[in-house]
Amino acid sequence: MPYGKLKLLIIGHSQTDAAQLSDDFSRQGIQLTYQLANNLTDIHSSLDASCWDAIISEYAMPGVNTLQILAFLESRHLTIPLILYTSVTDEQTILQALRNGASDCVTKGHSMRLMLAINRELEHLDLKRRKRQADSHIYRMTYYDELTHLPKYNLFCEKATALLSDSNEASDVIAAACFIEINRLSQINNKYGHHIGNILVQELANRLSVFSDKTCILGRIEAGNFMFFKSGMTHAAEAQFFANQLLKLVATPFIINHLEFYVALNIGISLFPQDGDEIEVLLANAENVLTYTKKTWLNTYTFYIKEAGEASLQKSRIEQALQQGMDDKEFILHYQPVIDLETGKITGAEALVRWQHPELGLLSPDQFVSQAAESGAIIKIGKRVLHEACRQAKFWQDSGHGPSFITVNISAIELDQIQLIHHVAEALQITGLEPARLELEINESTLMQDVDSSIRILNELREMGVRIVMDNFGVGYSSLHYLRHLPIDTIKIGQSLVQNIASKSDTSVIITAIITLGRDLGMQIRAEGIQTQTQLDFLQKNLCHHAQGFLFSAPVPAENLLPLVEQRKTGTFA
Ligand code: C2E
Ligand code: MG
Repeated sequence: MPYGKLKLLIIGHSQTDAAQLSDDFSRQGIQLTYQLANNLTDIHSSLDASCWDAIISEYAMPGVNTLQILAFLESRHLTIPLILYTSVTDEQTILQALRNGASDCVTKGHSMRLMLAINRELEHLDLKRRKRQADSHIYRMTYYDELTHLPKYNLFCEKATALLSDSNEASDVIAAACFIEINRLSQINNKYGHHIGNILVQELANRLSVFSDKTCILGRIEAGNFMFFKSGMTHAAEAQFFANQLLKLVATPFIINHLEFYVALNIGISLFPQDGDEIEVLLANAENVLTYTKKTWLNTYTFYIKEAGEASLQKSRIEQALQQGMDDKEFILHYQPVIDLETGKITGAEALVRWQHPELGLLSPDQFVSQAAESGAIIKIGKRVLHEACRQAKFWQDSGHGPSFITVNISAIELDQIQLIHHVAEALQITGLEPARLELEINESTLMQDVDSSIRILNELREMGVRIVMDNFGVGYSSLHYLRHLPIDTIKIGQSLVQNIASKSDTSVIITAIITLGRDLGMQIRAEGIQTQTQLDFLQKNLCHHAQGFLFSAPVPAENLLPLVEQRKTGTFA
């Protein structure tokens, strides 16, 4: 028996019965303390005055029966086990008591059985208590942040949603979700250790808590991020005022271990109902603000702007899609015809990649190429582009129709990779395209990053028979001086120059100089971005070789290019 001491309230039994029980229990090593109660008044006062391990009760005594005692226990939410210790043998009576909450029934005189029943009930209670404790521990761990004891995301959202539904009832009420980021927390963690960072977070939580009340909920998401939801406002200016109040909280430094720490807050704010009507959306938008506002050292707040938010959301979706790995087949090519300005015919085509993403739709290179370059994904994409462009060009070559060369854009990262040479050789070999029909187009700025290395790689590519086009010439470096040293076949005049032909007189001078110098060096000159007849006339008059631009055609899918080639066979510029 694990319980060495027992405190019992004995109801309806004589002093002699109780003394007998005490003796019996004592022989089993249990020290019994008890009190007798034989009427309702005594029972009530005993229960109110003291705590009891268990109640031992006769079924009925003058003026009261067990059912009344059970009802009283329930009305007071007392969970003391009541065991019938009775001479009553009528089964119905006993059953009724058990149904009404009695824990067990032991025939009077069987003190050993009574002991066992008490023991079992106490163990059962103990188990229940421990389970309750464990449940509440798990609840706290799940819903409350250990460091600050503030609600975590789920509980925060639950509470905010309840406030939101109140706000929904009043039409002119607005609410604000604030996403708060502590600047410099990671530097403090790194320099002074996480325990200092943790104290800082706790102290900031204390300062922020000043504002949490019935209309304002504070929560902590992770590391240095807090969230506030404030309801019951009628104007955005109130949210602004609130944010200012929050910023003032960090005006005085935090003193930790005799050191002074100054921190700044960045707060993103989104408003209900204009920026969303669910807390999860409002909070995501408030957080999103911090991804598109410039990170400054200032203590600032910024309101969510739908358009900026959507653009940055799309950017992060694309980033995620790039990280998840891409299906090669999602990258498709459009082709922009290259026109021979002497004959007016389509002579080549520039391959321009598009990403047909299953969820994000058709993405243009501006939406993903620079991100793909940052992550290195451009190498895989570039390999696919090279292969597909060569395959298409070979198909056109075999059909006896279509453009006679294909141009593929190569990014700085690809040019840096030794694999580029292998990828080009492999694409040519697998598709069977003649190298002279492939042009690689590289931006002027990329070529100029490391001129010596560029010259080496370009020489190798040219030895394979591939031609090199310098894209966007004249826009960035205007490296006329380098031109004679670079192993390139074609200069492509950037569209920002071409589009200024009629409006800026010095542009015409620069273009004429580029054409003259390029021709002198035996290079081909191509102009891109031609949109008007004036631009075309100027370029033709100045003996530019080739041209691309919306005036002739935007980039089109491969199957749409052949009809364009047919149309232009007459060689007119109409
Ligand atoms: P880019 O090489 O300078 O390509 C020309 C861009 O100008 C194309 O945009 C084309 O659609 C557009 N364009 C053509 N004619 C006109 C015109 O008359 N007016 C105007 N305003 N624009 C015109 P796109 O296809 O969106 O490509 C943008 C850039 O993405 C390309 O600029 C190129 O740098 C890059 N890119 C495209 N495909 C690839 C690729 O496969 N690999 C790599 N690394 N970069 C690529
Ligand atoms: Mg290009």
